[in-house]
Amino acid sequence: DNPGLGVGSWPWRRARITPDRIALAQGDRTVTYRALAERTRRLGEALRGLGVRRGDRVAYLGANDISALEMFFAAGQIGALFVPLNIRLSAVEIGYMLEDCGASVLAYGAGMTLPSGISAHLVGPDDYEQLVQSGSADVALEPVGLEEAAVILYTSGTTGKPKGAVLTHGNLTWNTMNQLAHYDALGTDRVLCIAPLFHVTGLGQVTMPTLFKGGCVEVVARFEPGEVLAAISRGRIAGFAAVPVMLKLMSEHPSWPAADLSSLRYVNYGGSAVEERVARAWQDKGVMLYQGYGMTETTAGVTMALGEGALERPVSVGPPHFYTEIAGLRDDHAAALVAGEPAELLVRGANVFSRYWEREEDTAASFVDGWFRTGDVVRQDPDGWSSVVDRVKDMIISGAENVYPAEVEAIMLQRDEVADCAVVAVPDERWGEVGAAFVVRRTGLSEATLRAHLESNLAKYKVPKYFRFVDELPRSATGKVRRTDLRRTASEWITED
Ligand code: ATP
Ligand code: MG
Repeated sequence: DNPGLGVGSWPWRRARITPDRIALAQGDRTVTYRALAERTRRLGEALRGLGVRRGDRVAYLGANDISALEMFFAAGQIGALFVPLNIRLSAVEIGYMLEDCGASVLAYGAGMTLPSGISAHLVGPDDYEQLVQSGSADVALEPVGLEEAAVILYTSGTTGKPKGAVLTHGNLTWNTMNQLAHYDALGTDRVLCIAPLFHVTGLGQVTMPTLFKGGCVEVVARFEPGEVLAAISRGRIAGFAAVPVMLKLMSEHPSWPAADLSSLRYVNYGGSAVEERVARAWQDKGVMLYQGYGMTETTAGVTMALGEGALERPVSVGPPHFYTEIAGLRDDHAAALVAGEPAELLVRGANVFSRYWEREEDTAASFVDGWFRTGDVVRQDPDGWSSVVDRVKDMIISGAENVYPAEVEAIMLQRDEVADCAVVAVPDERWGEVGAAFVVRRTGLSEATLRAHLESNLAKYKVPKYFRFVDELPRSATGKVRRTDLRRTASEWITED
């Protein structure tokens, strides 16, 4: 057998070393590495039987499930691209993605609403097992190399339409090495997969490193903070990857004070900014936090804060990953970052993608001097640790001064009465742009009190002009605030006022 170095070969490689260890678990079901190797091999052949060839796209629409990871490995074995789709999107948006990637097969999970007029071959939850069993486990594999495309992962669509980032087997492999160079995973670890597998945090941050090491990934279909805390408290969970909003919801859950988190050795999180008080709540429970900063295009990690160091700098995203280089944009070119000076971050390395799916212009626009433009402003400390200031696109330019919403939000969140908040830019005749704040309050907090708190902590031009108290903020599947929606709403109030 020569499967090549692609990630599809992982189950087979692990099965040679640790065949009887459990690779995947979900509810009462478990799949050993031996079974995973055999099942993915069968599924790969079954997909070929459906006409899937090297370079073709196999889409998956469903909650986190063992079958999603099996499809990922099976597609990888035959050189096809696995395309997991965001289940929070509307049928129209999903239709757009299926069309965009030209999927020839769509496997879907229970409870999914499919768009009409899909040309892809459909595999429903009830057909899945039969499909797996219909494939032969004895066909010789053709090698799949590290330079070949493995997945198309769509970006979160926070700043526009989601873009399909093409990640190679090499990108996924080197990201795994990057992750493992930062935190101490053991082959005997059991971890939870709670972040959605259709985002890099779910697939790349802990799931793939654990399967590389021969550990067990317990797949959780639906994130429910109390249930996750109970699962950890029952013991034996070594770690998990999460987006900040998950950490927040767990830390605010009634069962939090009594939860026993002593088995956790690593909680890796990232994807958006974390509130300092949330990071502290986890640290106070004695949990080792690893904040990662990265994006779909960089196969998850660009930087990661080491657990020990994070105690003093809970919102820092740490130094760059092992195989990843960072720089700053200066005068439209790559230049070394200067400590203390905010700059748009550039990234280069074995985990960085090389193209968006069928979007040549977007691809060309995202690279400068061979570096990927992240669109994020960071500030580096003298020792090489970075903090994310904000996205370039979210910056408010008020009277020629730059205002970073994240800074203003962090000051608002210092008040216990503020449960959640977001500041966005709105047009203003006098200043060009001003800030509009959306605030979710816990108790009766007045606008005057909040304004006074901001004025005593920030320069006047940074204080939002408008405030609105709301019940909740619109958020995406990974908990990112939908700022485009908020900008639209804010512009509407202003015309009403
Ligand atoms: P789109 O590119 O479609 O607008 P997106 O950028 O939100 O959406 P992702 O690739 O899922 O899509 O997210 C990457 C972005 O998330 C980063 O560019 C950065 O803005 C933000 N981010 C990731 N990790 C962190 C972190 N630890 N702290 C602050 N922001 C983060
Ligand atoms: Mg992005």
